Amino acid sequence: IALLALTACSERSDGDGAGSTAPEKGFAANSLIGVALPAKTSENWVLAGDLFTNGLKEAGFQSDVQYAGATSTVADQQAQISAMVTKGAKVIVIGATDAAQLTTQVEQAKAAGASVIAYDRLIKNTKDLDFYVAYDNFKVGQLQGQALLEGMKAKKPAGPYNIELFSGSSDDNNSAVFFDGAMDVLKPEIDKGTLVVGSGQKDIKQTATDGWKAENAQRRMDSLLTSTYSSKTLDGVLSPNDTLARAIITSVKGAGKAVPVVTGQDSEVESVKSIVAGEQYSTINKDTRNLVKETIGMVKDLQAGNAPKVNDTESYNNGVKVVPSYLLEPVIVTKANVVEAYANDPKLAPLTK
Ligand code: BGC
Repeated sequence: IALLALTACSERSDGDGAGSTAPEKGFAANSLIGVALPAKTSENWVLAGDLFTNGLKEAGFQSDVQYAGATSTVADQQAQISAMVTKGAKVIVIGATDAAQLTTQVEQAKAAGASVIAYDRLIKNTKDLDFYVAYDNFKVGQLQGQALLEGMKAKKPAGPYNIELFSGSSDDNNSAVFFDGAMDVLKPEIDKGTLVVGSGQKDIKQTATDGWKAENAQRRMDSLLTSTYSSKTLDGVLSPNDTLARAIITSVKGAGKAVPVVTGQDSEVESVKSIVAGEQYSTINKDTRNLVKETIGMVKDLQAGNAPKVNDTESYNNGVKVVPSYLLEPVIVTKANVVEAYANDPKLAPLTK
């Protein structure tokens, strides 16, 4: 068992769950809560900052909400978290810029008596992380894989289909989980020959998109089109999020090719418009309002001295411990369900009419 625990350093594991770490007692109702978010690499992060600022205020807390800058993101975030600890934050909510670079800061927080919640992205290699709140990332990947298959079948009933695969930034723990979820659906079809990865680039290192940056995805797609698709048709592209999906579509159009089936994630405004217009095939709805609400709910529980509710105590091993998690259900969105999917979202609903 000891050996198993030592080697169980994957992002997801099936090991026994560690129970939730209940605080011994709460803390003052108007305490400071720190929120350290990554750079604004997608709309959901922008929205999260506003929702935390307003939601924490409404709940009676003081808040310190910070974003890592676009450059030197890791150093920025490390300094921001240390400052929150110094200011006496009772809970620090972290959307990590780099999953593996916050061990020291999380340890500092714990030593000062603060609780630490990983928000959306897991923090690795620390026993001091208390909770993880996120949409089920593996499920996100599976939904993306299924959408890619369905979208291509709808256009051309029988394969083989030529596809390319993109994954997210390698410093984000989610990237591998999204990719594993997608490959859980796609790999059997690749093995059967129904799907052909034209470039042969099938592993996470070859498909990674550094910093989740659109220009990196666009550059890679440009070069794939030149190397592999001068005479072949590209039927589909697995894209891990909307920002990258639009970069991929821009590249394909720039090369004068027909737009393939492209997946996405995040329900970004321009991608929802693109889906309605019949260009991007799918996205994922991970309503940021619910994720922030659940996280603030945990903060309130900790304040009151209650054990926050978790619903998963086995999926997320951070290399040192299985982190008690609260996972929400992501929803796949295509043109077929776009109206109902955003019916209660005041920002997106008008785009679907
Ligand atoms: C989030 C995605 C987002 C990506 C880039 C991931 O950690 O889960 O929703 O698209 O970061 O910002």
